[in-house]
Amino acid sequence: NSIRILHDKCTKCGICIKKCLYNAIDLTDNKIEVNGNCNYCGSCREACRHGAISIERAGVLQANDITAFKGVWVFAEQKSGVLGSAVIELLGEGGRLAEALGVELSAVLVGHNVGPMVEALSAYGADRVYIVDNPRLENYNDELYSAVVCDIISRYMPEIFLIASTSIGCSLAPRMASRLGTGLTADCVSLDIDIESRRLIQTRPAFGGNLMASIICPYHRPQMCTIKPRVMKAVSPDYLRRAEVIAPRVVIPGAVNASVIDIIKDAGQRVNLSEADIIVSAGRGMEEPRNLEMIYELAGVLGASVGGSRAIVDAGWLDYRCQIGQTGKTVRPKVYFACGISGAIQHLAGITASKLIVAINSDPDAPIFKVSHLGIVGDVKKIIPAFINEFNKGGG
Ligand code: FAD
Repeated sequence: NSIRILHDKCTKCGICIKKCLYNAIDLTDNKIEVNGNCNYCGSCREACRHGAISIERAGVLQANDITAFKGVWVFAEQKSGVLGSAVIELLGEGGRLAEALGVELSAVLVGHNVGPMVEALSAYGADRVYIVDNPRLENYNDELYSAVVCDIISRYMPEIFLIASTSIGCSLAPRMASRLGTGLTADCVSLDIDIESRRLIQTRPAFGGNLMASIICPYHRPQMCTIKPRVMKAVSPDYLRRAEVIAPRVVIPGAVNASVIDIIKDAGQRVNLSEADIIVSAGRGMEEPRNLEMIYELAGVLGASVGGSRAIVDAGWLDYRCQIGQTGKTVRPKVYFACGISGAIQHLAGITASKLIVAINSDPDAPIFKVSHLGIVGDVKKIIPAFINEFNKGGG
């Protein structure tokens, strides 16, 4: 990268000095100069009213190259022939972005015998489906999937590429971004478009969830981001829609460093937390791991799934897959029981879309009561057994 002050245009107004967050611009010997603190962010160039700053970035697409990228794409994650539930949420959001930009919405479907999933992708909004069907792609593989998807992207050049923040998505997205030489924003919670510049405004929690950061990718394409499942809204399906299907010829790499030998199904809880209608969630207020028995009992009575705060996951009381919140799962149940959970902002980030939040906490000032619809001030060890009793009687 290089930055140059065009002294014939510079009026030494000093706006660039004020705008620079890195103290990288000085006025020395009556001349504006850039020092070694510069990270080429471009805020000085944007602020300069005289066009007196020029930045050249290595490997960066110029504005006219960027305009060659068109369309919004969604990675259609599937496992064993079943489409990931987050894909329809991505299609809903992708459709909204595509409409704003006046372009088509496409899905990329990779796997083996995946043809039957095209119907659902069309119904949920895809105008076009790029499909790569090969026995070697039957199970997800980082190297093969990233090579195949990047190959298609390089040929068809979408401007936006959306991936769900699932374990597959979180593994695939950074590999792809690095291969394509573009940026990636992880775990977005909202997206918007700046119509004039066609930039994707990617918003995600930052600094431990204490503020929301809006991130742009101005100089590279595609603009890539991962999105937490259950954050975006799916649209209603229209089974009369028919997407155009394209089966590009791709070269699947021969040798790979890792391959799937066997798949052992998780014998843990049957319902995925992200899809559960009722969740009973435990926090440090449960006091000790053996008290989680009553959480499991209540969940059993209600047919609910069990979740928890990071505090008890970190303490080893519960598996990480049960963690709810900013660095865990985002949930949208009909009823969420928060038992002995304080309601830290990072936990709330994962539960605010719940229809009914029932909180039990001994501290009447606990922040969880600010978001709960029903709050019970008391000891979980007394309230939960009373709940179990009532629900067993068919009451409540
Ligand atoms: P505590 O905050 O210790 O709260 C325990 C609560 O139980 C208290 O309110 C107390 O009044 C109550 N209590 C105590 N005894 C009883 C009793 N007998 N009966 C009833 N109530 C009782 N946290 C998450 O949950 N999910 C995340 O994804 C997450 N991500 C994070 C990411 C970052 C970057 C950071 C910095 C933090 C993150 N955290 C996350 C941690 C978060 O800040 C909190 O520390 C955590 O949520 C606290 O868990 P807790 O509510 O179980 O524990």
